Amino acid sequence: MGHPMANNGAESSQLGLYIHIPFCRSKCRYCDFNSFAGLSRLIPAYLEAVRKEMVAWSALSARGGLPSVARDAKKLRLNTIYLGGGTPTLLGGEAIAALLSACRASFQVEPDAEITVEANPGTIDVAQLRSMLVAGANRLSIGVQSFNPNLLPLLGRNHTRQDVVGAYRAARKAGFDNVSLDLMYGIPTETLEDWEKDLEQAVELEPDHLSLYGLSVEQGTALWAEIDGGRLASPDPDLAADMYIRADEHLSQHGYDHYEISNWARPGRRCRHNLLYWRNLPYIGVGAGAHSSFCSVRLANVRDPAEYIARLTPALPVWGETRGSRSLDSPTPRGRHTPETPAAPSFARSAVESYLSQQFLAENGLAVVEEIVDIDQPTQMAETAMLNLRLSEGIDEHSFCRRFGADVRQAFGREIEELENLGLLAGQGGAIVTTPRGRLLGNEVFIRILSGRFV
Ligand code: SF4
Repeated sequence: MGHPMANNGAESSQLGLYIHIPFCRSKCRYCDFNSFAGLSRLIPAYLEAVRKEMVAWSALSARGGLPSVARDAKKLRLNTIYLGGGTPTLLGGEAIAALLSACRASFQVEPDAEITVEANPGTIDVAQLRSMLVAGANRLSIGVQSFNPNLLPLLGRNHTRQDVVGAYRAARKAGFDNVSLDLMYGIPTETLEDWEKDLEQAVELEPDHLSLYGLSVEQGTALWAEIDGGRLASPDPDLAADMYIRADEHLSQHGYDHYEISNWARPGRRCRHNLLYWRNLPYIGVGAGAHSSFCSVRLANVRDPAEYIARLTPALPVWGETRGSRSLDSPTPRGRHTPETPAAPSFARSAVESYLSQQFLAENGLAVVEEIVDIDQPTQMAETAMLNLRLSEGIDEHSFCRRFGADVRQAFGREIEELENLGLLAGQGGAIVTTPRGRLLGNEVFIRILSGRFV
């Protein structure tokens, strides 16, 4: 049993919704995400399944089965929505609008909610973007990866530099005033000069936000096979570190705040949805392979899109028939509430535990959840510390203590002291932050903090 204060959302009224769209035009050569080319015939059924999953979460919340912190009346309040993938913009403007409207039917979307849609160049035009804006999307995240005509095919990206510029201009023309670009560095054969050119071209476009990721070659991808077969050189980690340093210099010269290890933003343009993850706050994920995290549990949905659809197809009646349905009134193994007699809005860990079994979720239209992991308090503390250290704001010692009833310097005293002595962490006005050198060696810092939990 965890500490009674151990609650992912205990001191926050923030809640985010992630919607996974697993469809892509083609599979990039480095990609090991849960995304698929050639499955577009599944899109209509998939969107209907996602809608049903949202209805099911909403119904569960109405019965008291979710964190009260983000609930208003009987609906969960959302501060952020993120349509990720995959390539959500493959759906087209109308389907994205319908999806957002289904969100509003199931959740209370805050008036100032950040609503991000991920896009790939070549899959958007001004008309589509305008209909997304009208539907409430207010942030666009474009997967650029590179502008370089030699590197784009090596990555298996099916767009050109001109497509990127066209997509960006279309976003601005349509009226998006919050646009982020994703870039990738440390690509085989890429030189420091290549990277500098990519950075310059990205900054020339004046995006509000940039995410820069070092290429990680994942087993099972086409790129991995090529490197493993000796046909392509592995990325050089020292060169990748130089690229990272160069990016930090270049972006800070151009007014971008390095607020997270891989993310830079103009003032006021940090990604609020991703901040929820890094602050270890609650979120619900819907769609194939999506994860949810709240209170002291983490849930994972089945990854295969066809299986995801199949598990939702017979599960729930259409919207409007939810109240009083058989699935909601089914007896549960460890507790039962009807919509007429909602549970008291109390969500200490033990209360959540008593609700969330796979059987209970399945009986409530959520048979897509195939994994439930109980996160004990020491693990929550280590994960929160580790995630917070990704952010420039670091671990706020006071907030940490309020949330967990424990002093972070006591909980991880030995690890923090060691990392401070190595110049990787530093105390800064009531917070513990990662130093510039610590950011370069981020993984070592995080592993050391986690080891405070596991050794
Ligand atoms: S577009 Fe994104 S999700 Fe789709 S295959 Fe490429 S990297 Fe993967």
